[in-house]
Amino acid sequence: MRSIPVNIGNKTIGGGSPILVQSMTKTDTRDIESTVNQILYLEEAGCDLIRVAVPDIESAEALPKIKSKIHIPLIADVHFDPLIAMESIKQGADKLRLNPSNIQDEEWIKRIALAAKERDIPIRVGTNLGSFKERPGNPVEALVKSALDEINLLESVNFGNIVVSIKTSDITLTVRANEKIAKLIQYPLHIGITEAGPKEESLVKSSAGIGHLLMEGIGDTIRYSITADPIEEVKAGLTLLRDLHLRGGGLEIVSCPTCGRCEINLFEIVERVKEDFKWVDIPVKVAIMGCVVNGPGEAADADIGLAGGRKSGVIFRNGKAVRIVKEEDLYSVFRDELKRFIESKE
Ligand code: SF4
Repeated sequence: MRSIPVNIGNKTIGGGSPILVQSMTKTDTRDIESTVNQILYLEEAGCDLIRVAVPDIESAEALPKIKSKIHIPLIADVHFDPLIAMESIKQGADKLRLNPSNIQDEEWIKRIALAAKERDIPIRVGTNLGSFKERPGNPVEALVKSALDEINLLESVNFGNIVVSIKTSDITLTVRANEKIAKLIQYPLHIGITEAGPKEESLVKSSAGIGHLLMEGIGDTIRYSITADPIEEVKAGLTLLRDLHLRGGGLEIVSCPTCGRCEINLFEIVERVKEDFKWVDIPVKVAIMGCVVNGPGEAADADIGLAGGRKSGVIFRNGKAVRIVKEEDLYSVFRDELKRFIESKE
């Protein structure tokens, strides 16, 4: 399902562009220093697009100062007050997120669209089930209708620089609503499960919902919503894209859960590999397996593999067994082999 490309600052979403990872700052936007520091730290982790809450005019006025110090597009998240939306556009936001449920004055929406058009910035129509005053009888229909009504309003003033998101905290509802709207429009879709909870819960919920949609070809940007440090949102988003082979980069670790057959300290080896090679940004598949049951097969299928044996292990490179190593030397030999492989690729 190919969407229309939309430019946000120096990035393009949709139209077959790589799927981008978005996060949102958890600082007070008026606190410019903390907000900039958080964005720079997220940029470093691989965040592609950043959204900040703009609950008042003072926050809108902070946007240009924040923007001047960061390198990724800055999205203003505005609710309730059209004047704040207008001010955010004036202050140079790269994109505006509006929630159809809480700015309902059609004339204001049209004025905002015209102002965004003048600055050539997109508007995300961001519909959330939680923003409805009462829970609708048919949430999927209501969410899709709310998004379509807002899109029609924007299009009525010839505004077509649109991104759409429909989110709920329920996996099935979110998936169904996105499947439905994806058949009806060609604008890029930003997808995620909203208010998905703390880290462990969100990783399961968001991966199920976002992963399902991405595998159907739906979604141009993603956000993991996690009640935790926003770096977790970025790490999870990048990992999912890598594991679905939608974007490269980083170490993909295939490791077994271990069982009574495992005679090497596999947990420690996996943790050390993860820690020592977290800087890797090219796609490398590593298999670390406990025994001969599935070990040789998985190890041979990876770029570099390790299959445990009796207090020893066999190291594989590009599908071939290259060394048998005693347990005490296993990590150091595997680490050196992996380093050499990465250097040969860079
Ligand atoms: S690979 Fe071997 S040690 Fe690992 S889970 Fe399978 S049977 Fe157990």
